[in-house]
Amino acid sequence: MNKKDLSFDGKLLNTPFGKKDVYGALSMPVYQSAAFEFDTAEAMEAAFKGLSADHTYSRITNPTVQYFESRVQLITNALSVTAVNSGMAAITNAIITMAQMGSNIVTSRFLFGNTYSFFATTLAAFGVEVRFCDLKNLYEVESHVDDNTCAVFLEIITNPQMEVVNLKAISEITKQKGVPLVADTTIVPFCAFNAKEWGINIEVVSSTKYISGGATSLGGLIIDYGNFDWLNSPKLHALAKEFGPAAFTAKLRKEIHRNLGAYMTPQVAYLQTLGLETLTIRYEKATTTCRQLAERLESLPKVERVNYTGLPNNTFSALSFEQFGDKPGAMFTFDLTSREACFSFMNRLCLVRRATNLFDNKTLAIHPASTIYATFTPEVRKEMNVSDKTIRISVGLEDVEDLFADFVQAIG
Ligand SMILES: *Cc1c(COP(=O)(O)O)cnc(C)c1O
Repeated sequence: MNKKDLSFDGKLLNTPFGKKDVYGALSMPVYQSAAFEFDTAEAMEAAFKGLSADHTYSRITNPTVQYFESRVQLITNALSVTAVNSGMAAITNAIITMAQMGSNIVTSRFLFGNTYSFFATTLAAFGVEVRFCDLKNLYEVESHVDDNTCAVFLEIITNPQMEVVNLKAISEITKQKGVPLVADTTIVPFCAFNAKEWGINIEVVSSTKYISGGATSLGGLIIDYGNFDWLNSPKLHALAKEFGPAAFTAKLRKEIHRNLGAYMTPQVAYLQTLGLETLTIRYEKATTTCRQLAERLESLPKVERVNYTGLPNNTFSALSFEQFGDKPGAMFTFDLTSREACFSFMNRLCLVRRATNLFDNKTLAIHPASTIYATFTPEVRKEMNVSDKTIRISVGLEDVEDLFADFVQAIG
């Protein structure tokens, strides 16, 4: 039997260890050690020069974290995977690897709150410009890109607006312009979406969400598909002459991630490796329940609008189906008549939890305008299309009947 031909879960569950475990452990043990010992000065020199694969220090590599990375690499077919301590660490490490003073990033205003703040405030202080545009308008995207553009950045389904970008069209533009396409794919995990097939060059993921296996821990992933010619990158041009398509990974692993010090810790890698084992089955159940709830909520008179790209009447339903199949994430939003109606709904919930986060095993509800976006000005909230009347639901693994009953009583 050829292990290369295995299915997604077959590959994932049979990812080989880098070295045979001395006790024959079936699960990769937690190598909870800051540093690693060497037999000789020569072996130590080789490891520090990167001439051997031996581990030296757990800010740089660790066997448990490396095993988690190798599982993700196997199922995504990537050139390299780097695991870090949060989704934001994945985004910041990836962008800092390609951006420098004078660079610009072309993106949308419809971004995760901290990503928006990182671009608009943190990076701006270092002379990196952010160019917001409507990613649905291809002409606008094209005209915002110039010689100093270091990346086009997007989220595959935006949150909480639920906008879907046309990945084929955008990746044609980035390819033609010689700019890397960086995508945050947190909303639709690997088992339902293959980023490489859609022309994405660098994928960033908050593994806190589906992958952690029930909100066990924070984590992030940077996935390099090795499908970009970094000779086109002003910052990585010189490295590309030496490392070819691996120039991004070389810059990230030899410099940026070591200097920023946000590598994933072994205990978290253990939890998330286990989380990966149940990803497909949890995603199947949560997305099925999500669709059923979204459909049923549409029938309630006090609900003004349900926004889920898997519903046939959704603006993005055809594009969403083309890109993500019939499982476009386990999150939807709905609008009630007012902010007061939303607060009353939130306060009456009995089963559904009032909490931020996404893709816990428990169903979560949040009023984005008064929480995640509370510190943004009303003008920025308006530009970001975050309405006072919207509730966001992240669907967990409870029974759909129990959940619907709670929604009905809480809406009143
Ligand atoms: C949660 C989230 C992030 C940030 O991830 P953390 O693990 O909380 O740092 C980034 N992007 C999206 C789409 C998210 O949902």
